[in-house]
Amino acid sequence: MRLVLVGPPGAGKGTQAQFLAAHYSIPHISTGDIFRANLKAGTPLGIEAQSFMDRGELVADSVTNEMVKDRLTHDDIANGFLLDGFPRNVAQAEVLRAVLAEKQTPLHAVLELSLANEEIVARLTARRTCKDCFQPSVGVDKCPQCGGDVYQREDDKAEVITRRLEVYQEQTAPIISFYRNEGLLITVSALGEVEDITANAISALNRVSE
Ligand code: ADP
Ligand code: ZN
Repeated sequence: MRLVLVGPPGAGKGTQAQFLAAHYSIPHISTGDIFRANLKAGTPLGIEAQSFMDRGELVADSVTNEMVKDRLTHDDIANGFLLDGFPRNVAQAEVLRAVLAEKQTPLHAVLELSLANEEIVARLTARRTCKDCFQPSVGVDKCPQCGGDVYQREDDKAEVITRRLEVYQEQTAPIISFYRNEGLLITVSALGEVEDITANAISALNRVSE
């Protein structure tokens, strides 16, 4: 299964991605996590990405596209992949389409997690992130996944959230029509229990991949 997950910040893409990736036995490729891992390791890529991430802006397409193209050469995607956080604008979507067309491995579906703005802000301000594995959590001091310390991402602070929502509306939302036109879009509500959202997503995906 070759899948893209799209939705506003705070829709729970990372959480759903983990369950969906496990269900389909495919790697979860999160561009945000790759950037954060590079930042933590102090690589040139991480240093370059940091100022954009902290301000809620997109990292340059040239940088992001190369990083994803490289990731898509790894052997572990033989069974497919779940891209989370990429593409984030139409130019990236076009690059992805071209890369996959060249390999003759087009996408099977694009899953949109939809959520209203008020809910997004409430979720993001409450969100904490693990310093070690980047797992998101709410209301705990230690990561529920690995026990690491949690912190508030610079871009989960109120001032930056507003900008991220604007960036989403202006730059990312257009990929929804792009994928609808390609006949790939599936929309699932991001409201409700995590397990129910996963179940809804899987049943919708099973319908298209039949
Ligand atoms: P979110 O919680 O907003 O979904 P992510 O963890 O996916 O956050 O991304 C965090 C930040 O990493 C983005 O605000 C952006 O600066 C950078 N980033 C992630 N993916 C991309 C991308 N495809 N193109 C450009 N920048 C990206
Ligand atoms: Zn952790």
